[in-house]
Amino acid sequence: MEYDVLVVGAGPAGSMAAKYAAKSGARVLMIEEHTAIGQPVQCAGLISTRAYEGCEIPETLSKHAIRGAHIHAPDRRVLSVDGKRTMAYVIDRGELDQAMALEALKSGVTSLIKTRFSRFRRQGDHIIVTAISHGEPIEIETHVLIGADGLRSAVGRFAGLERVQRVLTCAQAEVYADIVDPDFVELYVGRDVAPGFFAWAIPTRWSTVRVGLCSSDRSIDLLNPLIERVSPRSAASFVRFSAGAIPIGPPACTVTDGVLIVGDAAGQVKPTSGGGIYPGTLCAKIAGTVAGQAVAESDTSKNALMAYDAQWRSEVGRELVNGLRIREGLNKLSDDDLNYVIGALDDEKMLDIISRYGDMDRPSIVIRKLLFSTKAPHLLKLIKPMIKLGITKSGS
Ligand SMILES: Cc1cc2nc3c(=O)[nH]c(=O)nc-3n(C[C@H](O)[C@H](O)[C@H](O)COP(=O)(O)OP(=O)(O)OC[C@H]3O[C@@H](n4cnc5c(N)ncnc54)[C@H](O)[C@@H]3O)c2cc1C
Repeated sequence: MEYDVLVVGAGPAGSMAAKYAAKSGARVLMIEEHTAIGQPVQCAGLISTRAYEGCEIPETLSKHAIRGAHIHAPDRRVLSVDGKRTMAYVIDRGELDQAMALEALKSGVTSLIKTRFSRFRRQGDHIIVTAISHGEPIEIETHVLIGADGLRSAVGRFAGLERVQRVLTCAQAEVYADIVDPDFVELYVGRDVAPGFFAWAIPTRWSTVRVGLCSSDRSIDLLNPLIERVSPRSAASFVRFSAGAIPIGPPACTVTDGVLIVGDAAGQVKPTSGGGIYPGTLCAKIAGTVAGQAVAESDTSKNALMAYDAQWRSEVGRELVNGLRIREGLNKLSDDDLNYVIGALDDEKMLDIISRYGDMDRPSIVIRKLLFSTKAPHLLKLIKPMIKLGITKSGS
């Protein structure tokens, strides 16, 4: 089998990279280790309206609109943030992955399921990939290999690329629950509920709530107490359970000769929220286009593929770096600090700023607006480390 571009992994990043490589004129094969694209689901399925549009799927995908968040402080005070417009959608992640893969296939991509990348070797400027397809070893010859194979990226490892900087563990259950406020997600912060990150309860349009958390601890041990807190009767109403992980912080370089990594494999995930669909698919468009161009120009060297590394960093790199700084700043706050910050934000002027500038994909914008709007000395003291770490008034 010979292709111009081989994409490993049919998640959102893989399908998008494959589609854009095909649109650039390349012959593209996408392989997926599972027997069904989009399964198993390890995602809360909450994406911004911008991310939804960026996925380039038909409007028919089922979705549930969200316009705000109730943020639960450690002292159980609740801050309600109302975006006053549709800010995000709750989608079925399995359906999303399948719809995106279908769009790739419509663009001319070929796909093979139940086919697992295992290794590659180089032959001149060609790459020979060995995969296990339906239990049998096969070889696929390609010019460019795209690793869209998630957090543990075997492609990245074989290519000798650095790993992501940090990994958080996550656990989530989809439960039947009475949905109190279907337009709002519930977010929970605090050392007891989700140390190092946060927990969520997300209403869906299927009469279920996705209750989950990511943390620097054993998230799985914290899931049942969280479900009890969200809705005691839901502890006995599980529809689906999943455990997963989120990469935080991209490696220093995401390409080498003939190989590039994208999506979770490249740590293209927002460190503030753990959302990877928006940055991953955006970067995948660049990955596919650059791979296609490299094939057309018969130059698949690291030097040529570095255009991808440079372009994705210029699109989302700064937001990821700022996000990492905000996350580090937030993680330094004690529960008392968090109670104070949430209390201080419960103010008409502050809430108006959050409502006007809140952007799930670019959280540094609203943080910056808040930082430079408050005169509360203690709030300034708590957020000063984030300023010191590099967020400036001008936005850099
Ligand atoms: C609990 C949880 C909740 C989340 N909630 C959200 C959310 O609400 N919103 C959001 O934006 N993000 C969320 N994320 C993050 C989001 O799921 C990821 O960022 C996103 O899936 C990354 O897409 P990807 O295509 O890079 O990787 P993946 O979706 O992980 O896809 C990688 C694909 O590669 C395949 N694969 C792996 N190895 C091989 C191999 N050797 N051979 C062949 N195929 C292989 C896998 O089977 C998989 O299909 C969440 C993550 C977790 C863990």
